[in-house]
Amino acid sequence: MTLSPIRNTLRFSIATLALLMGISVVTVACGSDSLKDPAADGKLAVVTTIYPVTYFTQRIGGDRIHITRLVPAGVEAHDYEPKPSDLQAINRANVVVYTHPAFETWVADALKSVGAGKSVVQAADIPLPQGAPGAKAGAAGGEEARSASRDPHVWLDPLKAIGIVSRIAGGLIAADPAGQQVYNTNANAVISDLTALHERYSGGLANCSLNTIVVSHEAFGHMAELYGLRQLGLSGLSPESESSPATIADIIKNMQELGIKHILVEPIISQKLAETVAAETGATLLPLHPIESLTQAEAAAGADYLKLMDRNLQSLRTALACGS
Ligand SMILES: [Zn+2]
Repeated sequence: MTLSPIRNTLRFSIATLALLMGISVVTVACGSDSLKDPAADGKLAVVTTIYPVTYFTQRIGGDRIHITRLVPAGVEAHDYEPKPSDLQAINRANVVVYTHPAFETWVADALKSVGAGKSVVQAADIPLPQGAPGAKAGAAGGEEARSASRDPHVWLDPLKAIGIVSRIAGGLIAADPAGQQVYNTNANAVISDLTALHERYSGGLANCSLNTIVVSHEAFGHMAELYGLRQLGLSGLSPESESSPATIADIIKNMQELGIKHILVEPIISQKLAETVAAETGATLLPLHPIESLTQAEAAAGADYLKLMDRNLQSLRTALACGS
């Protein structure tokens, strides 16, 4: 797949965030027209794709924005294909926020088919995978495929999530400069939450007997890299890229040799392979949420990124046999 280069890279200096990192906002076209065509309710019209960027965008934009989220609760986010109504929403939007071309592989084509004059935020700043979409990279099961550098699940690393927040804030400010103070204040509140989350993870994972986790799909490369863990995936970077029988046999051998007693599984996708491996090894299944899409039940129960990340930490502490 060839991705069209996004032409203009604008750098914004946002005093409060610039202390943490440089802020890079990419725009297809920096149009003043976008501000003359606000959403029907007078708010900035923002289209988001999957749950993580939606959560961060909502918290940063607050009451100044109206979000249309394209990938609904309960839908497996890797498989999503846009509907005609999604393209209409993108066309009407002032701001489009997505994660990365390696995750929402359809966004580049969708943007080509709509008018210019919108601020487009690619929230995750990681290199593009070579050639095929990153979703296929895990199938080979090699070391390169397991590298965090090819993993689009950047939001599972609280520190890299700070970069996501900064880029979204920059995109909102580019489209709505009058809201700069609000966006910066809200972004700083999210950054405080993410910093505290990182401290809970650092402390919670500091004293563990194991360092290897067995997961449904290899969504946890960035998290693993940050906290010194190793992930073994029953599927690769996408749930559809199932590991080979040889890789599964290797995972079972690793579990037996290292004394791994848990398999970390996620909602939405099938747990059949995890149950088979659990039966083979006597392991117990525990939840570990990739937070790429919430189930409808989770959404209705008020689950959010921070709550699910804390629940993930509890599962990791059990799976890794961590002490206090
Ligand atoms: Zn995933």
